[in-house]
Parts: sequence; C-alpha cells; structure tokens
Amino acid sequence: MSAPRIGVSGVLRTWDGADRTGVNSAYVRSVLTAGGVPVILSPLIGPSFASRALDGLDGFLLTGGEDMHPAWYGAEPSPHLYPPSRERDLFELAAFAAARQRGLPILGICRGIQLVNVAMGGTLYQDLPSERPGPVAHDPGGDRQARSHAVRLVEGSRVASALGAANLSVNSFHHQAVERLAEGLVATGWSEDGLIEAVETPPDAPWLLAVQWHPEEMNADARAPDRGLFRALVEAAGARQADGVAIGEAAGA
Ligand code: MN
Repeated sequence: MSAPRIGVSGVLRTWDGADRTGVNSAYVRSVLTAGGVPVILSPLIGPSFASRALDGLDGFLLTGGEDMHPAWYGAEPSPHLYPPSRERDLFELAAFAAARQRGLPILGICRGIQLVNVAMGGTLYQDLPSERPGPVAHDPGGDRQARSHAVRLVEGSRVASALGAANLSVNSFHHQAVERLAEGLVATGWSEDGLIEAVETPPDAPWLLAVQWHPEEMNADARAPDRGLFRALVEAAGARQADGVAIGEAAGA
C-alpha cells in the first residue's frame, strides 16, 4: 500500500507584497508525521473544480481560519463577526460535499468543525464572548501550543480512540463554535462550560471527525496525544485505499 494522499484545504493571504495561496505549515507537517502525503488545495480552485481536485486523494483535511459567512446557516452577520472569505466558503463547501459523496475520510480542525456542522445543516455561535459568555476562555491569547482548557471525551468514540485518552487539556483559539448540532453528527467532546469541542459520524458511517482545538500546533511534541488525530485520518484513508475504492474510482474516471 502506498502512502495515503491527503487533501489539505488552503488559504489566501498577502505576504512579501503579493497575493499568495498556501497553508499553515503545521498542517502539512502533521500529515507528513502521520505517514500521509499532504496535497494543498487552494480555494482559488473554486467550487466547479472542487470534486475534480479530489481525484486521486484518499482523505481530506479541513483547516482553521476565517469565520464562515452566517448566511450559510440562515443568520444575519453579528457585529463581532471576523471577515469571511467567500472563496474559502464556496470551495470548501463544494469540496466537503464531494468528499462525502466519495466516502473520503475527513478530519476538520477549528473552522473545519464549524464548516462540517454548517454544511450538514447545523448552526454556529458567531462570537462566544458576546453570545455565550462563560467561565472558560476559548481564546486566551499567547502561545499557540499552550494547553489552556480541558476537554471531556466520550469513551470509545472515534476521537477518544484516536487520542488514546478520555480527557485532554487542549490549546484553544476560537471565538466561534458549534451551536445547534447537525443531524448525522454526534457530539463526543465538550469543554467544562458545555461547549461542543469534538463531533464525529456514527461508527457505521464513513469516517469523519472534527475538533475545535488545534492539534496541528502540537506536532513538534512527539508525545502529544494530538498526533493521534492525524494518524487516525491517515489510517482511515489507507484502509479505504486497501478496500480498492480509490483504485476503482481511478479506473472508472
Ligand atoms: Mn475551546
């Protein structure tokens, strides 16, 4: 079996005086560490080529970033909304739908858990401090690797199995979160204030797991349980490959 190819959703940014497209290296390193081959997918590909862009891929990673436009879940923009990216919303929603159709294993991180929930019919808190103030700081600032709040996980869930733990202290930098959970998803992790921090598909459905924290930033620590999330994605992608689904698809293309 060859190393699974994992699509990694990218961003548009300006640096060194030019408009560029890429992704936080931490996601790329995390997939590599887990034994996968990361393939960065720019939002510039657009919705009409999103499905084609997944050809030959064995798994899909939805990364962190901008707030989604609340119109996708039927809400008016809050004054506290951070600027959305129309290119990212359109591309990632189309890519997610195509990945689901193909039964690709999917891992969502931060914006990723939010996109998965919205794409499947759920809603979001647009801004936690103004809409759901509570005792847990979900965006405390400081070091991206700093573990700042606890998450309790359902034993035996995909997320607990991947992490090898039922409790974890996580790094947290988000001001949005899952509000109403989409049908088809199961909540399997919560912070101490009852906020959803992990969702997944039931055991009999294609592999999908999403978390609200940032496991990719822990990649430099070989002992970090967070690495298990990427290993689980790559393993699920490899298992699908071994089933011959990807090969059959390629032959039929
Ligand atoms: Mn959090």
